[in-house]
Amino acid sequence: MTNNEFLLKHLRNVPDFPVPGIQFKDVSTLYKNPRCMKIMVNELYELYKDKGITKVVGIESRGFVIGAALAVKLGAGFVMCRKPGKLPADTLSESYMKEYGKDTIEIHTDAIEPTDNVLLHDDLLATGGSMKAAYNLVKKFNPKNIYINFIIELTGEGLNGRAVFDKDVEMTALIKI
Ligand code: AMP
Repeated sequence: MTNNEFLLKHLRNVPDFPVPGIQFKDVSTLYKNPRCMKIMVNELYELYKDKGITKVVGIESRGFVIGAALAVKLGAGFVMCRKPGKLPADTLSESYMKEYGKDTIEIHTDAIEPTDNVLLHDDLLATGGSMKAAYNLVKKFNPKNIYINFIIELTGEGLNGRAVFDKDVEMTALIKI
């Protein structure tokens, strides 16, 4: 069994969560499995080890898990994009539409420097709304490069999250469904 097949086999699908019609991809079944954790972190490390990444930015909350583990392995810092009112110091914020509802994310104003190479990470790409908001936030810091990664990219059900990003944005996903 390939690494990809192993991840797919361990990913739980929960129908009609959190609202009817959504096929929820539950990464908790990947996160709880030691081999899945190792595969995800190692594969992402191989993808980004030569990019000079200095900051990994994780999106709350499922983006924190692999984002932080990968930051350690890359020798990079870790930055949290959080839901409104959670970050204690000065923040920048951006609102966006989700696959199921509207939301806002925030980042500390001192989180990123122009000298940084940033890797943005989240568990899953659906409509692309939340990652686009995070991308817009990070862009305001004018870092050297911004890369984007997901564990899972949803390509079916009329979703085309990739389309909301400029073609020149380097984006990867370990699993495409
Ligand atoms: P989007 O902004 O539409 O790309 O949605 C991505 C964010 O919402 C990620 O943080 C996911 O955790 C969550 N999400 C959206 N749709 C799903 C889904 N079908 N299964 C699991 N998580 C989802």
